[in-house]
Amino acid sequence: MLLSYNKKRLAELRYHNAKVEHFDPGIALMLDALALVDLGVEESLRGRKPVCNEGCEHCCKQPIPATPLEILTIRAFLNVYQLAPTKDRQGIDCPFLQENHCIVYPVRPIACRQYLVFNKKCLPSENPTATRMHDVFVPNYTYMHTALRITLPWYRTGWTLPDHCNEESAWTFFKKVTMLLQNISWNHTCCDCAKNNDAMRN
Ligand code: SF4
Repeated sequence: MLLSYNKKRLAELRYHNAKVEHFDPGIALMLDALALVDLGVEESLRGRKPVCNEGCEHCCKQPIPATPLEILTIRAFLNVYQLAPTKDRQGIDCPFLQENHCIVYPVRPIACRQYLVFNKKCLPSENPTATRMHDVFVPNYTYMHTALRITLPWYRTGWTLPDHCNEESAWTFFKKVTMLLQNISWNHTCCDCAKNNDAMRN
């Protein structure tokens, strides 16, 4: 489905960081895609205010999916700012949750950007999707699918893609290559991964 969106607002939402983007040409595509996801969230909220705010970290304690290019973008950000994920994390806390803050916030995955809760703050260890689904934001998935398709050219090298990806085959591809942040080894460098995408599956 083709989207018609507010290009001026999209440009405002786009995160720019020449040092991060320098690591790999795909990162610019990913940042374009993340801006489109943010725009989709903003438009779908229609002024409704989530209760999520800085320092509220309950949703960072569940499995967080991310695509390979999202992961590479996070690696580049970590590398530029010399940040380290938490090594001795407990349970399924996200490795980037430190002192109740996200250390990779500008490049956090799509899943984090779309997970919002209304009405009342989550209790510690509450999963609002299970306890009060009606308070959980339902994103406009057309934005997310369109955003992911922006990143498809990066996967043409080193990944097996159909010659002509339609919406359905692209979605099937992304579901297949998506990983959980908690399952990734963050020890090797961003540059290693840019040279060898398969390393990110380890
Ligand atoms: S990447 Fe950031 S926002 Fe997303 S789960 Fe981890 S700490 Fe939370």
